[in-house]
Amino acid sequence: MERKISGQKELQKEVKESGFCTGCGACVNLCPYHVAYHDEVILLHTCDLKEGGCYAFCPRTSTDLQALYKLLSDPRDLTPEIGPLKGFYIARATDPQTRAGAQHGGTVTTLMALALQEGIIDTAILADEGRDLLPQGKAVRDPAEVKKRGKSRFVVSPILAEFNRIAKEGGRKIGIVATPCQALALAKMRSKPLAPYADRIDQLKLVVGLFCGWALAWRNLLALLKKKIDLGEIEGMDIPPSQYHLLQVFTKKGPLEIALDEVNPCVRGACWYCQDLTAEFSDLSVGSARLSEGWEEAKNWNQVIVRTPRGQRLLDLAREREILEFREVPAGTLEKLKTASLSKKKTAVKNLLLRSRNPRDLIYLDSRDPVLSPLIKGPT
Ligand SMILES: Cc1cc2nc3c(=O)[nH]c(=O)nc-3n(C[C@H](O)[C@H](O)[C@H](O)COP(=O)(O)OP(=O)(O)OC[C@H]3O[C@@H](n4cnc5c(N)ncnc54)[C@H](O)[C@@H]3O)c2cc1C
Ligand code: SF4
Ligand code: SF4
Repeated sequence: MERKISGQKELQKEVKESGFCTGCGACVNLCPYHVAYHDEVILLHTCDLKEGGCYAFCPRTSTDLQALYKLLSDPRDLTPEIGPLKGFYIARATDPQTRAGAQHGGTVTTLMALALQEGIIDTAILADEGRDLLPQGKAVRDPAEVKKRGKSRFVVSPILAEFNRIAKEGGRKIGIVATPCQALALAKMRSKPLAPYADRIDQLKLVVGLFCGWALAWRNLLALLKKKIDLGEIEGMDIPPSQYHLLQVFTKKGPLEIALDEVNPCVRGACWYCQDLTAEFSDLSVGSARLSEGWEEAKNWNQVIVRTPRGQRLLDLAREREILEFREVPAGTLEKLKTASLSKKKTAVKNLLLRSRNPRDLIYLDSRDPVLSPLIKGPT
């Protein structure tokens, strides 16, 4: 696929106005014209540049996934379902306090804090809690600050805006926790399509990706929750495995369970066109575990995919320091994850074809992609 690079006008038409914007923040802080507002990006001023970083880095403009795999991973590690795979683990933080402040096993928090402590990175970009369930990108330099920012925020956080701000200053070693769409935007930056931004991305030293089925649109979520609870009571949220079919909201008064049928209309529209469940362009990707003991035990552990040598080195270091503990991966776990991941790709392909009404057109993806093309039913 020949990658087209255009400017702000085309970004606005092809991504924003078409409902494909994921809210990742990659187009913010490159110039003064785009700003993050709540979980959206708005345009303050128009720009006539024919080729802009905003268009080039956006995860929803034309994307050649195979070229990015080739650039960023070892071809021997590539799997069609979950991208590069060097190793697969079930792990969690050994420190119970870290786990208590984390979403699941605290693996992400442990790895980011370790990377800072060891000087692998000097700045960690995370999603801070924010106000009224609206997360904000936050750069921290102290491992103790990472531990204060565990847990998942299910509304998109435009943390790449914070990455762009810090990277512009220069001279940093940056690590970031990213959703799959954010990891893809960073991968596009790493392909260095535009000379003026080429040096900035070299400061990126670590990407810890999160598995992501979907994220919620802030306004819709707020409207749903306000009908049920005082927002000030909310302490966290989780989405247990699909058979539960619910969103759990943890509150000061106890858990509140909301059926997914009620939550689905709150999903950010752009997420239905997303083909990546496991953050394939990360050094390591982390999600919740699946164990035979059931969710009550599994929710205290993580599934970890190691994708790159630097991801492997960090995980090995955490094992050596005994700050992560591991258990045997139950038979069939990786296969189930691959099936779930492929199912997300199928849904994205189906929805993109419905939008384009053309079996040869996957809008921002390449219909000849060797993983996606078999998912297109009918002639291509
Ligand atoms: C929108 C969303 C959807 C998800 N969907 C799934 C799923 O379908 N299946 C699955 O297995 N796991 C999913 N996860 C990942 C899961 O919720 C946990 O983040 C993961 O298991 C890691 O757990 P942990 O205990 O190691 O994380 P922690 O140690 O608690 O660390 C979590 C880290 O994630 C960062 N973070 C929180 N929210 C965001 C955000 N919105 N954007 C970027 N960074 C953020 C925090 O700053 C923190 O550093 C999702 C996460 C998000 C944010
Ligand atoms: S770069 Fe991210 S925030 Fe900007 S238009 Fe694209 S998807 Fe939306
Ligand atoms: S489902 Fe995809 S587009 Fe939506 S937040 Fe997750 S990674 Fe981004």
